[in-house]
Amino acid sequence: MINITLNQLLAKIRQAEVSFNRKPGSVQLLAVSKTKSAQDIAVAYQAGQRHFGESYCQEAQKKQRELGAFDITWHFIGPIQSNKTKILATHFAWVHSVDSLKIAKRLSEQRPSRLPPLNICLQVNISGEQSKSGITLNELPQLCGQVAELPNITLRGVMAIPMPEEDFDLQRLPYKTLYQAVEKLKIPGLDTYSFGMSGDLIAAIAEGATIVRIGTALFGERK
Ligand SMILES: *Cc1c(COP(=O)(O)O)cnc(C)c1O
Repeated sequence: MINITLNQLLAKIRQAEVSFNRKPGSVQLLAVSKTKSAQDIAVAYQAGQRHFGESYCQEAQKKQRELGAFDITWHFIGPIQSNKTKILATHFAWVHSVDSLKIAKRLSEQRPSRLPPLNICLQVNISGEQSKSGITLNELPQLCGQVAELPNITLRGVMAIPMPEEDFDLQRLPYKTLYQAVEKLKIPGLDTYSFGMSGDLIAAIAEGATIVRIGTALFGERK
């Protein structure tokens, strides 16, 4: 069943790339498996999915142990507590939700030297007061500069979780603003826009998403 859903979802992403003049294959699907079982992940894996996103450290670690034999690229997308950075630095390839220099420094210091640099995105709060996580657009240039100097992490781009909107044009607006602000910074090597969830993935693709983070549309509703 998930096989069909995965293929339909990938087809929808490819279709949106065509509709909005995006390069074919430029949008990657991150399957958000938080609250879902290792078995659910295994089924999506068998259908070809390799990138999975988790929001809670302990829950993720349990599944990572169960799925140790699978060639999965793990992404962390949840709020980060400083006492969890060592786990993130050790067990993930990507962290999308970095929102302070302190957290970035800890991730860099704690990244094991046997592993390639940790890929990180800075989470930007583009809907103002509505969400507690993320830096402001004003803070972005300076933090990009500081984070880019850290040795064991690679700054790949930005992540955003805008306020939910029904209207397509309203969904596009915050992504457009952030995309343009990042492009203006002209930071070499910055190639990732972690934009879009089940409810707004088309709008996100229209505005430059390179990774869409999809849970519900792939695995069904969470309890
Ligand atoms: C849960 C979550 C998602 C997936 O949301 P859906 O609406 O289920 O697709 C994406 N990004 C983040 C940061 C999340 O916490």
